[in-house]
Amino acid sequence: MTQLSPTGRIGVLGGGQLGRMLAMAAARLGLDTVIFDPEPDCPASRVAAQTVTAAYEDLDAVARFAASVDAVTYEFENVPVEAAKTAAAHAVLRPGVKALDIAQDRVTEKTFLNDHGAPTVAFRAVASADEARAAAEALGVPAILKTRRFGYDGKGQAVVRSVEDAGAAFTAIGERPAILEAFAPFVRELSVIAARAVDGTVRAYPAGENTHEGGILRETRAPAQLSDATRAEALRIAETILTALDYVGVIGVELFELEDGSLLVNEIAPRVHNTGHWTMDACACDQFEQHVRAVAGWPLGDPEPLVPARMINLIGSDADDWERWLKEPGAVLHLYGKRETREGRKMGHVNILLR
Ligand code: AMP
Repeated sequence: MTQLSPTGRIGVLGGGQLGRMLAMAAARLGLDTVIFDPEPDCPASRVAAQTVTAAYEDLDAVARFAASVDAVTYEFENVPVEAAKTAAAHAVLRPGVKALDIAQDRVTEKTFLNDHGAPTVAFRAVASADEARAAAEALGVPAILKTRRFGYDGKGQAVVRSVEDAGAAFTAIGERPAILEAFAPFVRELSVIAARAVDGTVRAYPAGENTHEGGILRETRAPAQLSDATRAEALRIAETILTALDYVGVIGVELFELEDGSLLVNEIAPRVHNTGHWTMDACACDQFEQHVRAVAGWPLGDPEPLVPARMINLIGSDADDWERWLKEPGAVLHLYGKRETREGRKMGHVNILLR
């Protein structure tokens, strides 16, 4: 079991805002971070000890990067599996290749979840317009057609309102391999951010309640008010998934809560997660430090919040309001240093501590 010393080096595949916040948490604990990203001026590069600029397909560069650090992790789930495998051949990779492989394909992911006792909506794999129609017939409408791979923030998705609609939906998502999902009649969207250490210890932050707009996370409020049964089930689901994946690190588990308090897993993110940003100011050990601890082979920290919190994403021009947030009592502003503001782009977030 690899355990890093407090002057060790962690390599991160991906240099967006999640890599940036990981690097900042690592630095606080004495650790150096080496970022690997195709973009030279990526958000994480400006706070990391070192940055390697290369394509994920450049496996020689990945191998050299991995050999130069004590452990490698990733900050986004679309890192090509080949790059992750190469990294794993030259350094300890936490979490491993398996979690990445499973999370990259919605059909594989939902099959895996169901096989391990984590419930999801009913679904069908779809590879043609005809199959889309047949799946809509079988599952009923409304349903949601999504590309199997590379979807994020609601992209690559189409609502299917009638069986006839299904063919057009398949065209709308680019006629790519897809999944048709039954519509979850949820009353709330929740998420659990949980961590598993090298020794198998699991610690979970209390679930947060999430609101989306246009497929993008707008706000998380945590802890969500849950019945004891729902709280226990959320924890059971997170533990089940972490153990089944033999996972090391932080995972984000997105859940639908139904009217009767039961839960379905929407998707898993094998990394630190936007719905866990509230922990940065509400907990003694936030999700980024927790992930760094797990990757370093260190004991996990206390996930209990000191205060309830509300996290608001600053998307696109929302970030122009930065001065207002600086003046707001109880608000903590986080900006990601992105040079260019674009519509729909996550530019930062604000944590409001609810005392
Ligand atoms: P996803 O990219 O899969 O996380 O989906 C983005 C958002 O679409 C979710 O946060 C939900 O609000 C909604 N959504 C996705 N799948 C379903 C589903 N099967 N039933 C109802 N709503 C869904």
